[in-house]
Amino acid sequence: MRNLKIKYLLFFLSAWIVLFSCKSRETVWKGQAPIKRVSTLTRPIQYQLKKTFDLGNGIYCSNEFDGARLNGVALTGDDEVTVLITPENTPINASPWYAFKIWSEIPKNIQLKITYNEGVGHRYYPKISNNGKTWANLDSTLFLADTASINKGERGKFCDLNLKLGTDTLWVAAQELIVSKDVNHWSAELAKKTFVTMSEIGKSKENRPIYSLQIGNTESKKMIMVLSRQHPPEVTGWLAMKAFVERLTANDNLSDNFRKEYKILVVPCINPDGVDNGHWRHNAGGIDLNRDWEKFNQPETQAVRKFMKEQIKNGSKFYFAIDFHSTFHDIYYTISPELKGNLPGLVPKVISAMGNEIPDYTPNIRPNEIDAAKINSTTSIFDEFGAEAVTYEVGDGTPGDRIKLKGELTAEHLMKILLNH
Ligand SMILES: [Zn+2]
Repeated sequence: MRNLKIKYLLFFLSAWIVLFSCKSRETVWKGQAPIKRVSTLTRPIQYQLKKTFDLGNGIYCSNEFDGARLNGVALTGDDEVTVLITPENTPINASPWYAFKIWSEIPKNIQLKITYNEGVGHRYYPKISNNGKTWANLDSTLFLADTASINKGERGKFCDLNLKLGTDTLWVAAQELIVSKDVNHWSAELAKKTFVTMSEIGKSKENRPIYSLQIGNTESKKMIMVLSRQHPPEVTGWLAMKAFVERLTANDNLSDNFRKEYKILVVPCINPDGVDNGHWRHNAGGIDLNRDWEKFNQPETQAVRKFMKEQIKNGSKFYFAIDFHSTFHDIYYTISPELKGNLPGLVPKVISAMGNEIPDYTPNIRPNEIDAAKINSTTSIFDEFGAEAVTYEVGDGTPGDRIKLKGELTAEHLMKILLNH
């Protein structure tokens, strides 16, 4: 009995030492576990009731705009409003996106509680806007959240906002609101340049157009592929994509020379239905599109694949592919270095050259397992087209100027390395 007690004590002591030493060495975000095959056959989704809710006490709340997510709302105290946010369907990787408008007939301060369905925690730091176009972080003194959990890369258990309401509409959202019409507007502006063409490559399940941009030498047999917005809330990834593509279309020697040599293909918003419906993750078929790159059951992934296959008919090759996403912290998921594509070593070279230019920064690179399932965009595009591929995940809270700097430097070093190759 005494021996058993000592054994238990030793066990707990060694478990504690192991746990403690692992923790102190954990300096970087380790990223997600290897992704698993799931069915990507269409499943039903739940739609929101879109309306302006009259909460009483002269307070109103609305989800009548693209990208909104507000599944329920009630006045739960004199000056307290509770919002319910639920996903389009389950199971789902819980990235609880919220976006709604709120105002009051007379100026008043309220406490707004954001709640989610059971088992889901808070992820996004609240952003506010007076016009739906320019956004800022809510002042930290007005935000009470379980930041201890969030800082550890876990979901927070509560999220309370102190808001000053007036007759002017206040917009509250998980990230800056960038919906399909904003993306299309950006694309159309870029297509005013003589060397950029915008064209439709297919339709989403709800019949929204999916656009591509073709940039540079369209006769070239050397190509790169750029993807974004498979996952609707991942706005910081979209902003990085924007900076990356704008650098490729800049007017300087490097970009001019690169565009003479290469054809650049961009699909800036693969999931317009999910974006405009304010989804947490899925398309209108209720599926995580970034798990549908093996079976291609959804119209959005089918459209991109068909488009890419058409491009290689004349012997053209994809040398590089990048898909922009967002997660807790910046991380690069790369193909296993043991696998060789059309230009082995390209991706690590580009990332380290970019990282070397930023003081006190070491890029967090996570190569996939050699036998990773070929079910997301980059593993599948590498497998089918040989493109050296990377999933670039941008942190949810990475500041805008840093997103832009890294996006531009990544483009610059990619162009330099590809031109010198
Ligand atoms: Zn994502």
